[in-house]
Amino acid sequence: MEILARILYPFTQPFMPTSNIYWLYLFSTFGVATLLYIFKLTNRDNHQNLLEYLFPKEIYLHPSFISQCKNYFVTCWYFILISIPALAPLQKYLMDITYQTLIQTTGINTVFEIKNPQLVHYVSFTIFTILIFDFGHFVIHYMVHKLPFLWEFHKVHHSAEVLTPITAYFLHPLDIFVQEITILTISSSGSGIWVYLFGNQMQELLIYGVNIGMFMFLLVDNLQHSHFWVAYPYWISHILISPSQHQIHHSVDPKHWDKNFGAWLSLWDWMFGTLYVPQSYEKLEFGLPDGESKLFNSLTNVLLQPFRAVWQRSRKTLDSSPSGKL
Ligand SMILES: [Zn+2]
Ligand SMILES: [Zn+2]
Repeated sequence: MEILARILYPFTQPFMPTSNIYWLYLFSTFGVATLLYIFKLTNRDNHQNLLEYLFPKEIYLHPSFISQCKNYFVTCWYFILISIPALAPLQKYLMDITYQTLIQTTGINTVFEIKNPQLVHYVSFTIFTILIFDFGHFVIHYMVHKLPFLWEFHKVHHSAEVLTPITAYFLHPLDIFVQEITILTISSSGSGIWVYLFGNQMQELLIYGVNIGMFMFLLVDNLQHSHFWVAYPYWISHILISPSQHQIHHSVDPKHWDKNFGAWLSLWDWMFGTLYVPQSYEKLEFGLPDGESKLFNSLTNVLLQPFRAVWQRSRKTLDSSPSGKL
């Protein structure tokens, strides 16, 4: 039974509020898009009917979409077989280590202990959790773009030539591993610091088992991986990442490369100089430059291409080094 549940895990995602493609999040995504269509608030071809606007054939029959669907199963099985069993204990361990280290280093404990938490404390903890999670995401997303070895694996996500909610799952297992470990380390250390300062009486405010703020972001998160152009007012785009800003992150245009690394907040991009706010609608092309997306045209190539590229990179480095010429 346990084995069957694991095999069927990819099919259970639309019923899990922790998943990106939970039915409510999909419903709200396409609901927002429908409103944009009705009120003519977005880029759309006047000849398209609603169904053609929501699910264009050129996107949902594109070979890249088919490739992403196949990889979706690999990502889901990676989650259920590796991430979920390994990460929860690790999270607790890292939090405890941070907390204990702080006590031992400073000789004091729970400096500002809150014994009877009020709503304001729960809200603060809920916001704090989102901030450290999003900051962790920004840090590792920056690194997987800047470090050549990690970039070869993150290229899988950027090889997507069409963006749909499934693109959120279009990641190489090693890229997921590196990203999850880093985010977990940063967020667990943050939680450890919180417990050290204020005690462990606090809990996040949850809705369907999900942090209430994250739940609100997830209601519109799928717009990021979609063809719907949704931009926020200029000043809001400096705090929250709009769907269009993440689409720009996927653009092949060199002026868009290495911009908008945040998951939900653009605050970090603003602080670290990687923010790009579109002034108006920009027609975007997605994928890797110079036709490199073609190297990821099958499930086998999605899984193996990053290793081939790393191997070629290391060969080149060896060949160009003085010892390599001997
Ligand atoms: Zn990226
Ligand atoms: Zn993306």
